Amino acid sequence: MLVAGNWKMNKNIKETILFFKKFNKLLKTKNKIVLFPSFPCIFVARNSASKTISIGAQNVFFEEKGEFTGEVSCSQLKPFCDFVILGHSDRRHKFFESNQLINKKIKKAFESKFKVILCVGETLKEKNKNKTNSVISNQLKQSLSKIKFTKNLFIAYEPVWAIGTGKNANIKDITKAHSFIQKTLVSLFGKKAEKTQILYGGSVKPENMKEIFSIPKVSGVLVGGASLNPKTFAKIANFK
Ligand code: PEP
Repeated sequence: MLVAGNWKMNKNIKETILFFKKFNKLLKTKNKIVLFPSFPCIFVARNSASKTISIGAQNVFFEEKGEFTGEVSCSQLKPFCDFVILGHSDRRHKFFESNQLINKKIKKAFESKFKVILCVGETLKEKNKNKTNSVISNQLKQSLSKIKFTKNLFIAYEPVWAIGTGKNANIKDITKAHSFIQKTLVSLFGKKAEKTQILYGGSVKPENMKEIFSIPKVSGVLVGGASLNPKTFAKIANFK
């Protein structure tokens, strides 16, 4: 299982050091763990986290260097990070990132040998209009357009209405969405894409993790709020 923690715009350097001081001691698992601090804390996170823990970036730009104020490139992140999250709903909905932009970022991230967690998922309005599959299909097809298949691709199914709301999707909906994602990946890349790891994200917490991890098509979780507390995140990370 891959257990990923997205801190979003939380924690400063002091808090990052404190987190890992506690989390390193609590972590007892064979699961793959990756944490995504915000940019200023990436360096200190890499130096504070146990070596078995991967560090990732919450975003990256597709250009290498130059006049792109406020952006960060793959080569700037590479010494500290193995993973990058792209297409998170915060980026799509609060910063208006299109599938075309996400596609450029994914291409650059793969060229730079990052593992990419591509987030997809529908809003509540889209869910209520039965558009979940068509939204996911567009997001996958456009974000992955003209990209060669690689095992460095991970997908996170994150229904937007479940993110940060405390209300996770149910087993039936997660199973349906994960099967659909798997089918779409196979249609894009062929049978080799069948084993792509598909994570679930949206209000994962210790209280619901057993149910979510028990879903056969779930190969990991992307955790937001519950990854901020070392004790809480260790409970999820240590799941057997
Ligand atoms: C996320 O940020 O991707 C997320 C799933 O957040 P939360 O776990 O808080 O819903």
